Amino acid sequence: MSGWLEGYAALVTGGGSGIGRAVAERYLAEGASVTIVGRTAEQLTRVVAESADPGRMHAVVADTRDSEQLRNAVAETVERFGKLDTLVANAGVWDYQRHLTRLTARELGNTFDEIFSINVKGYFLAAEAAWRELVRTRGSIVMTLSNASFDVNGGGVVYTASKHACLGLMRELAYELAPKVRVNGVACGGMNTDLRGPETLAMQNRSLSASFAKRGAGSPPPPIPLHDSSTDPRDFTAAYVLLASREQSGPITGEAIRVDGGIGVRGFHTSAGGDHL
Ligand code: NAD
Repeated sequence: MSGWLEGYAALVTGGGSGIGRAVAERYLAEGASVTIVGRTAEQLTRVVAESADPGRMHAVVADTRDSEQLRNAVAETVERFGKLDTLVANAGVWDYQRHLTRLTARELGNTFDEIFSINVKGYFLAAEAAWRELVRTRGSIVMTLSNASFDVNGGGVVYTASKHACLGLMRELAYELAPKVRVNGVACGGMNTDLRGPETLAMQNRSLSASFAKRGAGSPPPPIPLHDSSTDPRDFTAAYVLLASREQSGPITGEAIRVDGGIGVRGFHTSAGGDHL
């Protein structure tokens, strides 16, 4: 490990599973102390117990749609670790690629409210709760974005719109919080995580990991240039370390690093132009 985050204090929303947990554990390995925020105490307690150094990991139960709970998570981080250097806004849900044409008006309205309140408002409120402490430390915000922040069909209409909104939020905040606080994003591609669907579509118990489990040896590869690259969230964490480190990325703000196997350079006829190489 690089030790790029030696002495840092970070807060990761949705840190109890998936990419949030992987980032929290990687930050710990890089020398940081980390607060993980999630909805279930049992899950968070297990992650802390299983971590490499439970003394440098703190769990706070909070729903990211609630500003008071987020403010409390920031306050507990400062109380426990003395400061806050990095906010990773990450907690989110997916819409399982539900098209507009497959939603009733009522479903659309309810699903919009639920997904936007977690994926978008949750990021707004986390930034609101953290910015004062981040000004003090000249810290930064790193947002989990998505290939769906740039391209279509990585989600359905509601998820894609929510992740595009997060890209706009990231860029506007990079302006509004400069020069004291940097704001960047990591636009992840497909990862084998516990990503859930919205309660309003009764998809809260559906997990993306089940879709990965169904993919057998003979299944076609995903239509992305690096179609044999890892889907383990731990292999997506390096960009989060780089963007959190003020020594390594001091002049970078308002940027999204795409970590998605090259979806943005996908061709028309085949996903990869070099399969014959
Ligand atoms: P995950 O379900 O494993 O992790 C998300 C975590 O957020 C869970 O622990 C969940 O309990 C928590 N969470 C959800 N709603 C919350 C709320 N209201 N308050 C507090 N915690 C809440 O899934 P993941 O894939 O690791 O998702 C993390 C982020 O990554 C999301 O923003 C998602 O959109 C994004 N993302 C995922 C993929 C992928 O393929 N898995 C691709 C691109 C982007």
